Amino acid sequence: MERNKELNQFDIPLAKRTYLNNSNLILKKKFLIFSPFLLLLFSIGALRLTRNIKLEPLINLNSQAEESDENRILGHLPYTEISKDKLVLIEPNIEVHVDMRDSLLKMREEAKRDGIYLVFLSGYRSVNLQNDIFFSLKSMRNQEASERARVSAPPGYSEHSTGFAIDFGDATQRETDFETEFENTDAFRWLIKNAAKYHFKLSFNKNNKFIDYEPWHWRYEGSIEALKVFETSNRNF
Ligand SMILES: [Zn+2]
Repeated sequence: MERNKELNQFDIPLAKRTYLNNSNLILKKKFLIFSPFLLLLFSIGALRLTRNIKLEPLINLNSQAEESDENRILGHLPYTEISKDKLVLIEPNIEVHVDMRDSLLKMREEAKRDGIYLVFLSGYRSVNLQNDIFFSLKSMRNQEASERARVSAPPGYSEHSTGFAIDFGDATQRETDFETEFENTDAFRWLIKNAAKYHFKLSFNKNNKFIDYEPWHWRYEGSIEALKVFETSNRNF
């Protein structure tokens, strides 16, 4: 009895252990047999997942870029005219979007402290005014629309109609107003160094493929509305 008991006590755990070990071994064998297939399945799954993750934004970006290119007229993106109640007069003939007034005036004050005298040449322009500028200058200068569009936006396609664009001049060098030579003025050098602090950005730099370099033309990106307005433009450049 005692021996049996001893045996039983000894055997049962052993037997159990053996059984467990056997089943582990079978599982391991099965795993080894199927592991290449599992690895293959896993790899395919992972590859598909990463391809989807990586490719989808690219596809979206491409289609968005193509879409915005289709919306362009002679290289210019469309802009909705600002509603009149968001416009404020900051000096005679210069109206801007209310969002950018404080920042713009503060920037001019700060520039003055550095001995730089910024002139506001043009702020908000209505679609009607842009129509006059685009079509009258075209006939005046005997230029085709595509040539004209390199220096002026067609009506409905100007950043000026949003109220968020401003053209600067240098009070000490007015002969450079609306000229590429404006880039050689102290005013321009000051803007390049400081304008970003006030949320202003040069709209048409030298790398722009559609529109000529306009060192005098800056836009405001210091509010959500402004960022929304220029989202397409920022996405493509
Ligand atoms: Zn401008």
